[in-house]
Amino acid sequence: AAALLISMGICAQQRPWTDKSKTIDQRVDLLLKEMTLEEKVGQMNQYNGFWNVTGPAPKGGNAEKKYDDLKKGRVGSMLNVRGVKEVRAVQKIAVEQSRLGIPLIIGFDVIHGYKTLSPIPLAESASWDLEAIRKSASVAADEASAAGINWTFAPMVDISRDARWGRVMEGAGEDTYLGSKIAEARVKGFQGDLSKNSNIIACAKHFAAYGFAEAGRDYNTVDIGNNTLYNVVLPPFKAASDAGARTFMNSFNILNGMPATGSKFLQRDILKGKWGFKGFVVSDWGSIGEMIDHGYANNGYDAAMKAVNAGSDMDMESNAYVENLVKLVQDKKVEASVIDDAAKRILRVKFELGLFDDPYRYCDEKRETTIGQKANRDAVLDMAKKSIVLLKNDGNLLPLKKSGQKIALIGALANDKNSPLGSWRIAADDNSAVSVYEGLKQYKGNSLVYEKGADVSVGATSFTTEVNINTTDKSGFEAAKNVAKSADVVIMVLGEIGFQSGEARSRTNLDLPGVQQELLEEIFKVNRNIVLVLNNGRPLVLDWAKANIPAIVEAWHLGTETGNAVAQVLYGDYNPSGKLTMSFPRNVGQVPIYYNQYSTGRGGKTETVFWSHYSDVDKMPLFPFGFGLSYTKFAYSNLKIDKTSYKKGEPIKVSVDVKNTGDFDGKEVVQLYIHDEVASLARPVKELKGFELVPLKKGESKTVSFTLTEKELGFFDNDGNFLVEAGSFKIYVGTNSQDVLESKFELQ
Ligand code: BGC
Repeated sequence: AAALLISMGICAQQRPWTDKSKTIDQRVDLLLKEMTLEEKVGQMNQYNGFWNVTGPAPKGGNAEKKYDDLKKGRVGSMLNVRGVKEVRAVQKIAVEQSRLGIPLIIGFDVIHGYKTLSPIPLAESASWDLEAIRKSASVAADEASAAGINWTFAPMVDISRDARWGRVMEGAGEDTYLGSKIAEARVKGFQGDLSKNSNIIACAKHFAAYGFAEAGRDYNTVDIGNNTLYNVVLPPFKAASDAGARTFMNSFNILNGMPATGSKFLQRDILKGKWGFKGFVVSDWGSIGEMIDHGYANNGYDAAMKAVNAGSDMDMESNAYVENLVKLVQDKKVEASVIDDAAKRILRVKFELGLFDDPYRYCDEKRETTIGQKANRDAVLDMAKKSIVLLKNDGNLLPLKKSGQKIALIGALANDKNSPLGSWRIAADDNSAVSVYEGLKQYKGNSLVYEKGADVSVGATSFTTEVNINTTDKSGFEAAKNVAKSADVVIMVLGEIGFQSGEARSRTNLDLPGVQQELLEEIFKVNRNIVLVLNNGRPLVLDWAKANIPAIVEAWHLGTETGNAVAQVLYGDYNPSGKLTMSFPRNVGQVPIYYNQYSTGRGGKTETVFWSHYSDVDKMPLFPFGFGLSYTKFAYSNLKIDKTSYKKGEPIKVSVDVKNTGDFDGKEVVQLYIHDEVASLARPVKELKGFELVPLKKGESKTVSFTLTEKELGFFDNDGNFLVEAGSFKIYVGTNSQDVLESKFELQ
């Protein structure tokens, strides 16, 4: 009879962990007591969606094995299953057919929206608008959860200084302070307080240092010192953990010789130890198995042992855990307590998601119909406008006059409904973006003609196929020149197609791909009144354009509402306020380039008289970190610090007056940087330590205040200790990292 009971599954009365009056920890313990070692290991196994769940059961091969594992409780989570019908079906198998009926967590890469897409994360970061970024993540969570998903593999909080790396599009740029604030905003946006079924679990990734892949080549070796690790790489992860991120994803790369996936130092000592992280760590896709290829493990058995002992709790798609962990415990290579700890961490999150109270909590057919609703489109449009950065605006071209103008629109990207969606848009429908052409067409006062001029690249447009096959075909140039000749204004939309950035999309050349630069120069010969609108997933080299083209608008890949956002900005119905969060280089040879460098020691301390330079090009970036214009102008004056000397612990109050001296209402990102002049370790020439997004009406003036505390003044030594040292500090406040007012104070 007992055997029969077990084979039928344990009935509800015998599942004391379903008792809601108990605390989550009590419920986790009650459940754990009932679990076999194999079932605990099962929780630590994550499979990719492997067959059409609502169709017939798979026969043969890997799919059948996975299906069987699911029924046996050997799977804790699935990724890439989506849509309520599919999720419900897969959940039903786990809940009704496995012995203990433990529900699955359903993971998905909701990177910048589910179906209704926000701008790519790098673009969003250029808004410096934390509330808008939080809201954007919450809209993404709302749609994803309506499709049955309860866990996103986002935010990516990797800091990166190398535009060759395709995944810069997924992050918040080069700065740690801003990156930490955005990490927090995104985690809070996705998770809310986890009380609603529109909140989903966030995942801070990739732990750690993935953004420092050598030469910007994806997955490449990372070799950085502790100074960069503690001061640049780790703080955004700490911010995500402090904001309550329930999961972390480790990383493919080697860090100083050790695969991050096998790093006890990162996962146990820092994350779970020092930071007290209570959630769980998932591996990156197959990264446990890849430790074999790294030359750090002999086989799956060895890799599983090393990863689990290092603190990786869940295995994404390597099969290493499900195949080896039971034996590793029996062989006494892994302590049973290590498995218990990992299983508990995973189960705790499932309880927090409410899945033990209702495994179908995220399977609400009625909510599914809200995906793509108007409110979501309005939210991503708002985010898209805020993400645009005006890089140059000489002369009178922008904002465009609303009538009486002949406008020529040129460039394949102008009429592209797919590329603006950007990379990482798995659930979005192809061609579902509003193109720039469609956006501009709505302004009927002007005449608008479109000519492609040239394609960007040929063929492939998907995640898995190569896209860097640039076209050489210039046969469309003549037609484009013809329409340009007779136009009052030429709008050229150039840049990268959606999949030219993203995972495995590294480039050594940051120019406009294909023949676009030539097209730009040819059009310039017949009409100089060009507004260049850029669509791209990374900083590009724009030296010629900056020197010659009167107006340049950085519009990234702005998601579903791209065309509307661009049109509203070009026509001045929205005054741009975005600022770059990655330095734009003059050429690839400057990369990695970032504002918070150290003084080289040669030629004095100020940045501008370094002896260390290039003999062929100015060493400073083409557009610096924090740079972005507005249709109006802002004047800074009266930088004040309330005292000249402070005791440790005393707040330091800084203020500055900012006046809108131009002809439009606008918003300005007021930025505060510090420099610790002498310290026990050299400190960067400038470090962002505060910013404020300030709306100012035409003619209006405001005093903007900042308070600095020890948190902003200190730094980490090479052992990871946080130090606040006495001495002189410089303060810089201004409109970007270069144009600043300056003051100083002493810390006693
Ligand atoms: C990426 C992760 C992603 C995972 C699952 C990996 O290749 O590095 O960022 O979350 O795939 O799709």
